[in-house]
Amino acid sequence: MASSAESWTTQQLAEFLSVVSSFTEEQDALRGGVERAAEALDTEITALVRDGRVDASIGFPAGEEPVEQLIAAAAEARFERELGGLGVCTGLSFPVGNNGTLLLAARVGSEGFTQAEMDLLRGMGKVLGLSLRSVQLIAELRERQTLLERLTTLQRSIASRADLEDVFDAIVNGASELLGDEVVDLSLIDPEEPTVLEIVASVGFSDDLLEQIRRTPLNQGTAGHAITERKPIVVDDYTADPRRMPDMAVDGLRSVISAPIYQRGELVGALSLGTRKRGRRYREMERDAVVAFAEHAGLALNDAKAAEETAHQAFHDPLTGLANRALFLDRLAQARTRATSSGGSVGVLFTDLDGFKTVNDSLGHAAGDQLLIIVAQRLLSVVGPTDTVARFGGDEFAILIEDSREPIGAARLARRALEVLEKVIEVHGREIFITASIGVAAGTEEPQELLRNADLAMYEAKGQGKGRYELFQSHMHEAMAQRLELELEMRGAAERDEFVLHYQPIVQLESGRIVGIEALMRWMHPSRGLIGPDEFIPIAEESGQIHALGRWVLREACQRVVDWEDEHGDLQLTVNLSSAQLRQASIVREVSEVLDSTGLDPNRLTLEITETVLMDVSSSNLERLAALKKVGVGLAVDDFGTGYSSLQYLRRFPIDYLKMAKFFVDGVDSSDSQSRLARAIVNLAHSLEIEVIAEGIESSQQSAVLSDLGCIWGQGFYYAPPLPASEISSQLRSRILAT
Ligand code: C2E
Ligand code: MG
Ligand code: MG
Repeated sequence: MASSAESWTTQQLAEFLSVVSSFTEEQDALRGGVERAAEALDTEITALVRDGRVDASIGFPAGEEPVEQLIAAAAEARFERELGGLGVCTGLSFPVGNNGTLLLAARVGSEGFTQAEMDLLRGMGKVLGLSLRSVQLIAELRERQTLLERLTTLQRSIASRADLEDVFDAIVNGASELLGDEVVDLSLIDPEEPTVLEIVASVGFSDDLLEQIRRTPLNQGTAGHAITERKPIVVDDYTADPRRMPDMAVDGLRSVISAPIYQRGELVGALSLGTRKRGRRYREMERDAVVAFAEHAGLALNDAKAAEETAHQAFHDPLTGLANRALFLDRLAQARTRATSSGGSVGVLFTDLDGFKTVNDSLGHAAGDQLLIIVAQRLLSVVGPTDTVARFGGDEFAILIEDSREPIGAARLARRALEVLEKVIEVHGREIFITASIGVAAGTEEPQELLRNADLAMYEAKGQGKGRYELFQSHMHEAMAQRLELELEMRGAAERDEFVLHYQPIVQLESGRIVGIEALMRWMHPSRGLIGPDEFIPIAEESGQIHALGRWVLREACQRVVDWEDEHGDLQLTVNLSSAQLRQASIVREVSEVLDSTGLDPNRLTLEITETVLMDVSSSNLERLAALKKVGVGLAVDDFGTGYSSLQYLRRFPIDYLKMAKFFVDGVDSSDSQSRLARAIVNLAHSLEIEVIAEGIESSQQSAVLSDLGCIWGQGFYYAPPLPASEISSQLRSRILAT
């Protein structure tokens, strides 16, 4: 009997469970539970009572429940009481779950409950408690879900904002809306003063209060604590909390929650929410929401910062921080529009450093970068606040002058720029002098055209001797066109036999005896006549034609001195090598091939390299020069003293001759300092067992002074200019030049 009653109870409980757990809304579950219990036990009165109220009941018309009586009855496990107008009722009450809810069942009259009925009712209480818990859980989950969805929507709307200030506002407004708190602030640690927290966005503060609390020490307030303790801080009773800020308490704030904000793993600030409403308790889910929101704020901050950085990178030169070409052109276009409508004009300065490559090659890229940064600063120091200085890459800079009064203003600025750049620059402990060539264009032409004009004028400044500025003139278009034409024409020039070699004698200063000749290239242009190497070699280097040209020079010159052997004996030959030629590993093979095929004794050939080659200390460079030495040829440093080389460099390389630049020779007979310099070079070279050849000797005095200084060899117009082979041959017959 007991067992069948028990199984009957178990089955009823299982049914009860399946019914009540099918409810997803709390109210439905409460109502359904009461109905099922009443049905199973066949009771007139059934009710759920909690926290001094009746959640659901059966046995009374809706809204007419005897609330007070039911509450009192539920407080007793068993009771006999008057309930409503039904007279005395006998009943039971059991807890439902563990949140204080009670399930009450009663019958009218004094008939009690069997043990089985009591067991069933107790069981139903438990089952109902479980179901209600799961229903609440579902509700909470659903609430979380909604919270998350709203968070995501907010995050998206935040992410779509470009301006950091907009992002901050979206964060505080979003947080306020999401949690229903009227006071929100976003505070960030001041990067310049890391002990201070600054409110960057807020809602709900009066202006006066905001002014008072905008900047606060990091060790105050809940925001400060959230940061120093690296965790969310929840204060239910703010007025009594030691972490409160006096001003805020005065403002009537009662409950506050603060969560730290991280950006790329670093603590950067805090998000705080608060309310002046009484009795606000932040539930666990709400704390989680604030933490999640603070996380989103961190991400948004990160995104906004990254966007700002990208925008900056897209328009600025990373090395100097100056505007780049894109930004320059944009500003130029805007300035031009303004100038056209106001009847003004804009000025463009195009600046290219002279000899920057030498600094870069000799002192290294780090020094080159340093120099560019200093140049940028100096250019910035001469322009006005509305002007733009840009770096276009390499050693090219451009300056935009707004509303320049025709070219005069622009030219004045160009002069100032040249002045500040001329001053000595110290880079990596070395003093460097650098000049610039500047092209100036002004007007209201299209931006690209203005820029091209300034570029052309810059080329002209280079051509006129560098270290100067030129104003754009329309004929410069033609000069540029000619340059391009020259490059094209050079292509077939070798086949048409338009290149020739002239030779300049190298003499022993004391005797005037010719000991050797230097091969110097010329271009016999069909329409323009003889073109000098200074004009066409840079073009050949730029276009890569220098390699073929260089091979031709070497073969032609070597063949020449071999052909002259019978008549002029064992004349020495020097040939210029471009640094571009030396950069190719094949140069060593090419030289020995020419020596083989012409039969020239290697020790009669000297290759002239520029000083910049020496300063490229890469090992491949050193190996190549060593390999050339091994072939048996001599090596000379051309135009020594015009670059930045030093003793160190000379030591490292297997150099035989040093050709003292004309610059030192020029004043050697008239200026003390100049002759001291020349003497230092000669002494230096001799101490390294290097012989000196003086270049560009134009007078007998120069020759005499150089000879006195200990210089043995020289060349120059005083002895002979470079001459065609036939003419040099007749000079060689006597072998003695002016003494
Ligand atoms: P460089 O090798 O220093 O040649 C000396 C230059 O000084 C020559 O100019 C010569 O005519 C000039 N010169 C010589 N004595 C005097 C003088 O007393 N007074 C003055 N004012 N000038 C004098 P050039 O022939 O115009 O050559 C210029 C440069 O072109 C050469 O300078 C050399 O660097 C380069 N070059 C010439 N031929 C070749 C070549 O075949 N290959 C390469 N890579 N470069 C060459
Ligand atoms: Mg030379
Ligand atoms: Mg020279």
